[in-house]
Amino acid sequence: MADPAALRGALADFLGAERYRKFVQQFSSAGRLLFWQEQEWVRFVAAQPAFGVGRDDLALALRVCWLHGLELQPDTVEVIDGHVDNAVWYVRAKGAAFPCAASAPVYTEGALFPTRPAAVWFCPDCRKAEAAWRARHAELQGPLRPTMVPLHYLKVDAATGCRIGGACPVGLESEFTNAATQYFGTFPLLAFEETEFSLFHRFDPFGHDAARDLIVFNNQVLEPNELIWAVVHPASVRSQASPNMFEARALALGPESTDEACDDSGPCKRDE
Ligand SMILES: [Zn+2]
Repeated sequence: MADPAALRGALADFLGAERYRKFVQQFSSAGRLLFWQEQEWVRFVAAQPAFGVGRDDLALALRVCWLHGLELQPDTVEVIDGHVDNAVWYVRAKGAAFPCAASAPVYTEGALFPTRPAAVWFCPDCRKAEAAWRARHAELQGPLRPTMVPLHYLKVDAATGCRIGGACPVGLESEFTNAATQYFGTFPLLAFEETEFSLFHRFDPFGHDAARDLIVFNNQVLEPNELIWAVVHPASVRSQASPNMFEARALALGPESTDEACDDSGPCKRDE
């Protein structure tokens, strides 16, 4: 067959980096070519007949990490008879930063599973990224976990300055920014001193993925949803960058509060 690395390189050149990554990702999860991939494959082979391999050889050539590009390595993992519900923030971090780690046990979910331990394919870089992510979470406890919290407008803040774009805060970039998730900006969280939140989005501005299209097909902008992550973190993780100054709405956690000052007699009063 054609050299696998040469085939991958030619296919990536043909499709473009973003679409190639999607091709590999969907092929590995579906285990077959989807309709759009069949069409692209026919076009590719017509343009580059030397790479017209059969499906088994194509599967071998594309047994790579769609995020890191490394060839996957064989391993085995424990099989556990049972069911697991992973936390949403873990599933998201995995999908964004270490999709091919294949380090977790296989849960049978009630199905028969005759082969034990289970054979898996893993990406060495994904395992490194997962180990770094787990170590950082053990160190920092909660702050880096995406959480859903109520927010309200506090006031117009023109003094503090916020950043849109620029450099992602140190410690967040390796977990939340990659081909699928982009850093948007960092904003002060005035309710908590020295606390900021950073926004990440998973929109697909190129429109290749209907589920992640910024503008869906009926031309309605997506509502804020799981495609937008707000990560609350200490301001100390902010990296050096020249901020884009602009007038922004500062946000506060929790339900709207009054402007009454605190005194020593107790906690601040809040409107219900
Ligand atoms: Zn990987």
